[in-house]
Amino acid sequence: MKIAVMRERAGGETRVAATPETVAKLIGFGATVSVEKGAGDASRILDGQYEAAGASLEATAAAAVKGADVILAVRRPEVGALSGAAKGALVLAVADPYGNEAALAALAGAGFSVLAMELMPRITRAQVMDVLSSQANLAGYQAVIEAALAYDRAMPMMMTAAGTVRAAKVFVMGAGVAGLQAIATARRLGAAVSATDVRAAAGEQVESLGAKFIMTDALKDASGSGGYARELTPEEQAAQAELVAGHIAKQDIVVTTALIPGRPAPRLVTKAMVESMAPGSVLVDLAAERGGNVELTRPGEVVVHNGVTIIGLLNRAGKIAATASQLYAKNLLAFLETMIDKDAKALKVDWEDELVKATLLTRDGAVVHPNFAEAAS
Ligand code: NAD
Repeated sequence: MKIAVMRERAGGETRVAATPETVAKLIGFGATVSVEKGAGDASRILDGQYEAAGASLEATAAAAVKGADVILAVRRPEVGALSGAAKGALVLAVADPYGNEAALAALAGAGFSVLAMELMPRITRAQVMDVLSSQANLAGYQAVIEAALAYDRAMPMMMTAAGTVRAAKVFVMGAGVAGLQAIATARRLGAAVSATDVRAAAGEQVESLGAKFIMTDALKDASGSGGYARELTPEEQAAQAELVAGHIAKQDIVVTTALIPGRPAPRLVTKAMVESMAPGSVLVDLAAERGGNVELTRPGEVVVHNGVTIIGLLNRAGKIAATASQLYAKNLLAFLETMIDKDAKALKVDWEDELVKATLLTRDGAVVHPNFAEAAS
């Protein structure tokens, strides 16, 4: 059982799919592990640390992948980078299948079994494998740190001989995994924090973190299936806009995190709302990858409008790569462990397992996931 860890090739990707700790665990399960040189550089993991954990270092991706039964990656690798792997090798990565049907078909055609980590069901058993949560949590933290730096003022209240500095007012829109961590981080920095969400259940969680929950009776609970939010009706959207418009004008920092599964990010902050904020205020839009919650967000960029900074940078978790890699690698290890027979020291995939079925995109030359099989045929 050979497991390969490649250097990430996507621009701006700083994370790595295995750490010395997870490599040592995999070797303990009977695997041999090869790591492409430099794979951990951007996550502050030196080649020698992988070697000390028992991995063999390879100068090229081709050498690392040669004969591999499993390839661990952060982003979906291009099929060309995987030539020489064992027939039917497993690829565990954030596969990003939507709109990437051709790349998926190429991996299927080459015989790989691609498991999309982001499709992991959000059930108790799979919490330890949930890459969306592990990375969103860090993104929420990072967003507040980024906002604090761009704010150019202190966050906590300070009473000094030279005068009193008031606490920054932080408003978090969307109180899921990322939003709750953003609230907690802003509180730790001493800000006065408020938050909103369209799921009534979020209110209690927000308040338990010491933040004020902003909600209106006009906005009924918009919980959808699986604990996610549903899209708001036009009337509900108008009620929400009315609710937040006055509030945003008084904020120093706004962090938006609102998402709806399978839909573009909801537009929550209009240009007029941005223009109502004082110069020096900061917005961080964590939904930028899905189009943004803020009308003026430009994905991948920082925009300054009327003195208000709007940060739409992508891959926020990758900005704290060492921690992000530590948690991501643990998610992968936990999933892969369910597919290893430790007595036989060999791979033994239960193709009927609900976690495998939910994440498996390709197998035996075909796209097999029900959401994508039709598009591929
Ligand atoms: P998400 O990333 O899909 O969305 C972020 C937040 O935006 C959500 O809280 C959502 O309600 C909110 N939102 C959507 N539209 C909005 C709007 N118009 N205005 C304001 N907020 C809006 O969500 P997530 O962070 O992935 O979490 C979704 C749910 O899944 C939560 O209930 C969370 O507790 C749950 N969850 C469960 C598990 C598990 O059981 N293993 C793991 C992670 C998350």
